[in-house]
Amino acid sequence: MTSLRLTADGLSALRGVARRNALAGEAMRRLEPLYGPVVWAPRFNALEELIFTVLTQHTSDTNAEVAYNSLRKSFPTWMDVIEAGPAEIADAIRHGGLADQKAPRIREMLRIILERTGRLELEFLATMPLEEARSWLISLPGVGKKTTGIVLNFALGMPAMPVDTHIYRVARRLGLIGLKDNVDAAHDIMEVQIPPDEIFRYHILLITHGRQICKAQRPLCGECLMADLCAAKSVFMRAFDAPKYRRPVRAGQTL
Ligand code: SF4
Repeated sequence: MTSLRLTADGLSALRGVARRNALAGEAMRRLEPLYGPVVWAPRFNALEELIFTVLTQHTSDTNAEVAYNSLRKSFPTWMDVIEAGPAEIADAIRHGGLADQKAPRIREMLRIILERTGRLELEFLATMPLEEARSWLISLPGVGKKTTGIVLNFALGMPAMPVDTHIYRVARRLGLIGLKDNVDAAHDIMEVQIPPDEIFRYHILLITHGRQICKAQRPLCGECLMADLCAAKSVFMRAFDAPKYRRPVRAGQTL
C-alpha cells in the first residue's frame, strides 16, 4: 500500500492553493452583482479574434477596432491580405500603432495557417484537447499565452484563461498569485482557480475591476468590495489616505 507523506512545505503550499482558490470564488461572488451578469458570446470567429488581438497589442481597443475595420474594408478576404504587400497592409492598420511590425506578422500568420491547414479559419481548434490547441496557436509567430487564451476562450469557449495587464495587477494585489509570479505563471495558476466553465466570467470580472476600481496608479481601495480580503489594501491606504504617509506616486509605479 502506498503511503502519502507530505512535508511541512508541501502542506503549506497546498493550503496556499486552497486559500487562493477560495479567494477567487469569493471575488466572483462579490464582483458579479456589480459588473455582471457576464454571459459568454463570441464577438468574432477564431481567426478574426486572432487578428484583432494582434491589432490590440500596445494600443487601446478603440484604436484596434478602427484598424481592424480598415483592414477588412481594404482587404475583404484573408486571402487578399496574404496576397497584399506588407506596406499596403501597414497603411490599412496605421491607426492601431506599430503598423510596420504588425502588418508582416499578420500576413505571415495567415500564410502559415493556410499552409498548415489548407484553410483560412481556426474553428478546428475547438475539437482538440486544450493543451494541443494552445500549442498549435503558440507556434504561430508572435503568439503568446494571452493571445492564445483570448482566441480559445472568447471565440471558441474553451477553458483557457487570458491574463492581461489589468488582471495581472489585480491578481498580485489581491493575492490570487504571488508577488514573484510572472504573467506567464499567472495564466497557469489562475486557469485552475475556478471551474473551467467559469473562466470567461472570471476574466471579465477581474478586468472590469482593474479598469474601474483597482486602477494602476491610484486604486480606489475605499470603494472596493474586496478590500477586507486584499493583501495590498493597507499599503495603498497608508500611501494615499493618511496625511502623514502621503507621498507622490511615481510615473509607472505599480504594486
Ligand atoms: S483593496 Fe485596493 S488594491 Fe485591493 S483589490 Fe481593492 S482596489 Fe485593488
